[in-house]
Amino acid sequence: MKTVTRTLAIAAAIIAAVSCGPKKTSAEIELTKTAPAFTAGAHKKLVAMDLDATLTQHKTPLEDANREALDRLGEKYALLMVGGGGAERIHRQMNDYPIDVLGNYGMQEARVIDGEWKLIRSDVAPVDSAAIMEKCQHFRDKYGFTKYYGDPVEFHQSGMITFGLLGTKAPSEEKLAFDPDKSKRRAIYREVCEAFSDYSVFIGGSTSFDLAPKQYNKYDAIMRFAAQNGYAKDEIIFIGDDLEDGGNDSHVRLGGLDYIYVHDYHDFPQLIEPLLRAE
Ligand SMILES: [Mg+2]
Repeated sequence: MKTVTRTLAIAAAIIAAVSCGPKKTSAEIELTKTAPAFTAGAHKKLVAMDLDATLTQHKTPLEDANREALDRLGEKYALLMVGGGGAERIHRQMNDYPIDVLGNYGMQEARVIDGEWKLIRSDVAPVDSAAIMEKCQHFRDKYGFTKYYGDPVEFHQSGMITFGLLGTKAPSEEKLAFDPDKSKRRAIYREVCEAFSDYSVFIGGSTSFDLAPKQYNKYDAIMRFAAQNGYAKDEIIFIGDDLEDGGNDSHVRLGGLDYIYVHDYHDFPQLIEPLLRAE
């Protein structure tokens, strides 16, 4: 009986599942996936971009072809890397490529100053861990994610939180088989956003929801950088792979920045051609 109730709860959540931002139908989302939202001829000055699955494979070093593409792009535009991971990890993964980086969804900022890459800001946010644990447990009980390995929630030094539905120490095979199409997490995404209304919520990794304090997400991070450095919204274009609802680039799309959608990071040099040709 419990299983039936749980199944019904999940089904209801699937029906209710929409984004935390302005509501979009799946058809609209599908449309935005297929065509780059880049307006040809628009006068862009800043190219902001994601790293994992946009320029490289997840957590693997930047390859030569995309490094060269970045060089060409950098001759014409200011470049900004915007990641969900820490700025130093991003810098290492890019083999010390000299590029400004916003890490941890904007909690960290690193700039290239006189040719030297420097971390100039690293914010830490306070966390009410008891309240967070209680809310996570509510979702475990309601949807049956009660079996987990290690800790039920991971609290990072920055104040970011990983709510892994299988816990912090789940075997990788089990993790990979858990939710490969993200449907389990998409089904309850809106509800998780509502429960953690002080946070930006992302469907991350293979089993988790990643939480960053509300003001830290890629859209707000880029717009803060733009305000400080004199770029207007329409002078910015974003390149990323995870723009669907719940994706860690989704706030960029919902915030209304122009973007180029990357399906395969090998396509990066081709996808930036219109930018290289633009007047
Ligand atoms: Mg990505």
